[in-house]
Amino acid sequence: MNRSLLIIDDSKAIRTQVEQIFADGRLFSKILTAADGIEAFKLLVSNKVDLVLCDIEMPGIDGLKFLAMMQSREDLKAIPIIMLTCHGDLSTKIRGLESGACDYITKPFEPAEIVARVHVQMQIKTLQDELRRSNQLLLQLAQTDPLTRLYNRRHLYEKLEVELNRCFRNKKPLSLIMTDIDHFKKVNDNYGHQIGDEVLTNVADLLQDELRTYDLAARYGGEEFCLVLPETDLESAYDVAERIRKLATEMKLPAPMENYQLTMSFGVAGYDGTDEGSIDEIIRVADDALYEAKNRGRNQVRDKEISN
Ligand code: GH3
Ligand code: MG
Ligand code: MG
Ligand code: MG
Repeated sequence: MNRSLLIIDDSKAIRTQVEQIFADGRLFSKILTAADGIEAFKLLVSNKVDLVLCDIEMPGIDGLKFLAMMQSREDLKAIPIIMLTCHGDLSTKIRGLESGACDYITKPFEPAEIVARVHVQMQIKTLQDELRRSNQLLLQLAQTDPLTRLYNRRHLYEKLEVELNRCFRNKKPLSLIMTDIDHFKKVNDNYGHQIGDEVLTNVADLLQDELRTYDLAARYGGEEFCLVLPETDLESAYDVAERIRKLATEMKLPAPMENYQLTMSFGVAGYDGTDEGSIDEIIRVADDALYEAKNRGRNQVRDKEISN
């Protein structure tokens, strides 16, 4: 297990003593030591630390101030901290626990006690890390479409709402591109559903590759996709759609489709940021424009400004 411990104490004797207790490598493969809060902070930002043993009484930044600093940082507040306190100092122990320390050890300490307490905290940390990972995975599964790995429709609505509000507050435009593969039923009918799935994945990859960092691509439905382009006016979004339309016609298709010409139609809706936007409205306008592109013969881009 690659776990690392950070010992903070202004007394070199204590640092050495604690270091020796954990030197057998059973709980930690790496031990870092610091004589004060500043030195400890530097180590924390440049190393992955799994547990901190922190003295309370130190010159400069004392243990309680150090605790507060760690608690205020999103990236550090999940690291368990055990305080090293002096015998009888009950109010400091309580303040430490209230400020986010998970336990305390009174000096002078028995090696067996410090090992036992650290072991308990490491077990809790392991469970919490697993829980955090599972939650992240669940969130990702809830937001993505399993076939294409793009965001799903639910997440599209959530993001669109956030982005529309943000653009309205900043008086910035936002565009939505809705695209649908032309005659996709023919792909399934001629080459089978599995090849159809491959084409959907290829299209999704193309969309993802063409987006900028702040744009978002989602699978809206079967062979329909949406692109959200914050701070992008209708004219620029039209150019993006036109570029993707061309690339789609040149896209590499699964082997049995080498003579097939795939095309896609695009509807672009532009919101100018002046009146409060509505997601239903922007989707409706993009859908209308897409419908027009289909009606006019497919393989083309149509655009519409949202009327206020
Ligand atoms: P149009 O140009 O008017 O859009 O014609 P189209 O054939 O693409 O449209 P239609 O809505 O008639 O058919 C869409 C097809 O997309 C039918 C459906 O079976 C297929 N489809 C939807 N989801 C999936 C999927 O996940 N995998 C595969 N392989 N096909 C899908
Ligand atoms: Mg001290
Ligand atoms: Mg279609
Ligand atoms: Mg469709």
